[in-house]
Amino acid sequence: MAHIGRPNLRIAIVGGGIGGLTLALALRQRGIEADVYEQAPQLTEIGAAVALSANATRELRRLGVLDTIAAASTEPSELIHRSWQDGRRIAAFPVHHGLAYQNRFGAPYFGIHRADLQKALGGALAGAGLHLGHRLVGMSEHGEALRLDFANGQSVEADLVIGADGVRSLVRRYVTGGEDAIYSGTSAFRGIVPVDRLPSLPDPQAIQFWMGPDAHLLHYAIGGRGQDVNFFAVVEGPAAWPHPTWQAPVTQDEALAAFRGWHPAVSEMIGAVEHTVRWGLFTVRPLLNWSRGRAVILGDAAHAMVPHHGQGANTTIEDAITLAEMLSHGSIGGIEQLLSRFQGLRRARTRKIQRSSRVTNDLLHLPDGSPAIADRDRRVSRFPEDFGWIHAFDALASAQPSPTVSAA
Ligand SMILES: Cc1cc2nc3c(=O)[nH]c(=O)nc-3n(C[C@H](O)[C@H](O)[C@H](O)COP(=O)(O)OP(=O)(O)OC[C@H]3O[C@@H](n4cnc5c(N)ncnc54)[C@H](O)[C@@H]3O)c2cc1C
Repeated sequence: MAHIGRPNLRIAIVGGGIGGLTLALALRQRGIEADVYEQAPQLTEIGAAVALSANATRELRRLGVLDTIAAASTEPSELIHRSWQDGRRIAAFPVHHGLAYQNRFGAPYFGIHRADLQKALGGALAGAGLHLGHRLVGMSEHGEALRLDFANGQSVEADLVIGADGVRSLVRRYVTGGEDAIYSGTSAFRGIVPVDRLPSLPDPQAIQFWMGPDAHLLHYAIGGRGQDVNFFAVVEGPAAWPHPTWQAPVTQDEALAAFRGWHPAVSEMIGAVEHTVRWGLFTVRPLLNWSRGRAVILGDAAHAMVPHHGQGANTTIEDAITLAEMLSHGSIGGIEQLLSRFQGLRRARTRKIQRSSRVTNDLLHLPDGSPAIADRDRRVSRFPEDFGWIHAFDALASAQPSPTVSAA
């Protein structure tokens, strides 16, 4: 039976974002070559950051890229939940302090600029099999193979197609036959601000949630020395998303008005950035099927979630490692069964995190005086106990073939 690693088997990854690059690297580490087709002419994602938790950083260490990532990252001093107006600390847990997080979960928690993460992953790949400027516009079956058509006029055939093409995935449309991205009813203002422009901010090196009526703001430090603060400020609404893309134009006043009356640290942060857009937060409805024939999806394409557990990228990295490991044990003859086993391994966990992120949104947006506030405060005080399962997960271990039970 032909093994997946056989050189003439063609594997195409659509999308060179976090999932696509991680998958290509993980496959290469296992002796399997793949081609990555990315629509952007360059691997640069500007103006945003990402928080990487232990469930992802343990895999990035196994891929040999964690040192490069660490050099460009900041580990938060603490995780703090605060009240929106007076900044009262409601709950706090050490993260970098005393290396509490690493000691508990076996790998670090990092805030990193997305461009630095992509540089680390792309740099490790060193351009091997990476095809920039390739926007997928069509997919069709050609016998056993799949044909991919790109906007630049080129076409390729592949024996296995992996859609890592994000929340608006075209590969997902091929797999499920529909458009499954849905607007969450919430939107965000984002920005990166030098720490020295935030004199009112207590604990600038911590990861902090400021919780208030119909909104919250999350921030953490990034850069090798924690010199910048990345924030995203989430508000309820608009009720319907008014724009064909996930960014809609706004004025500076709209952003400031959404957080009027909040603690000076919050208004300072929002005011330090020129807001021209707000980001609609989209999710993917739970899917019955992640694969069709020899095409499969992962990451945001399969389970985009609201970012309130900071787990979209982390679960995407888990997906990539799981699939790479399974493919390294698989054969092309059994590929369809392998892809449905992959879905079986990943769907329950990602659904659970997706659901929990959604519930967290409501918890973070309670109005003052709500009878649910006491429960909220109790729940954020139990963060390590209640959410440790997200961070402790070991994707590589989960993907090991189960030992054959002997009939003897
Ligand atoms: C405000 C906000 C904050 C977030 N913060 C965090 C966080 O702190 N931690 C966390 O874990 N997650 C976070 N996330 C989620 C995280 O960004 C995503 O879950 C993650 O990027 C998903 O990776 P992906 O590879 O599936 O998709 P992406 O990283 O979006 O990559 C998809 C790639 O596919 C390419 N592509 C798309 N269509 C095509 C096409 N037709 N042809 C070719 N290429 C194509 C795109 O150009 C892109 O490069 C956040 C999200 C938001 C909106």
